[in-house]
Amino acid sequence: MWVLNKPSLARSKQDIDVLIAHCNNLDAVVDKPLLEQLYNDYDNGGGEVTTAQLAATDGKKDVIRGQYSKTSGKDPNTGLDKTLVYLRNELLDPDFAETCPYCSINKPNQLDHYMDKSTYGQLATCRLNLVPLCGHCNWLKSDKPYKDFMHPYYPKVRSRVVFLKADCTIVHGRVCVSFSIDGTALGNVALEVRLTRQISEIRLDKRLQKAVNEFLTHELLRSHVRTNAGLRRTLAEMQTITGRQYGDNDWRTAVIRGLRNCAAFDMTVVNNYRNNPIVVNNGAVL
Ligand SMILES: [Zn+2]
Repeated sequence: MWVLNKPSLARSKQDIDVLIAHCNNLDAVVDKPLLEQLYNDYDNGGGEVTTAQLAATDGKKDVIRGQYSKTSGKDPNTGLDKTLVYLRNELLDPDFAETCPYCSINKPNQLDHYMDKSTYGQLATCRLNLVPLCGHCNWLKSDKPYKDFMHPYYPKVRSRVVFLKADCTIVHGRVCVSFSIDGTALGNVALEVRLTRQISEIRLDKRLQKAVNEFLTHELLRSHVRTNAGLRRTLAEMQTITGRQYGDNDWRTAVIRGLRNCAAFDMTVVNNYRNNPIVVNNGAVL
């Protein structure tokens, strides 16, 4: 959740050669060094560029934006140029991004232009600016300012900082969760504001409510805990395991942390999950 391994700058620059080789309106002598400089600026800028840095390639903005259609693999029989479809295939490969970095619920199936291609067309085929997201997150981000979102390739968060909080309450025997950002732990007000906007924009609370209860049903049905003291020990163990498996800022780990601080989460609630397991869409009982 949140972070993906950044594609290399060198690999991104190789893409410029492919782009220019298949576009009559781009010139290897004139445009290549300008685009290389723009990619350098983007990388040095932590996943963004200034208007001044874009200026040198302004004249080719629409040309490059038009080349993005060459990444489409939707219909291989249309006869359209698919020269850049390898970009989509590489970035949507499960080995590169197993789950959507914004919601950590769905598999990524679309490429998002972190800096939107309408305004920043010069970056339309720059793989550093192409982020694999699930369709739902991509749709929710679509018309929002990129500054409301953390760039998954340039996370700007110090390692080992635990910043995702999940406040848990018990309603009708089920766990309800409200996610927020721990600004004190983050120690960066601007980043706190950005992450707070992000979890609001992608509607994390609402979208994760079902996933949280499915996750808890699965975990509680397979545990043999019988006492409240044992439950506290079990939660501590679960936090360690989910932290290792998904990361300390994944929603699952945050929920376990939240439950450790929720006195109302006791064996009565656990037994409710066991006696009334949640049924998922295909009819299976978790
Ligand atoms: Zn998503």
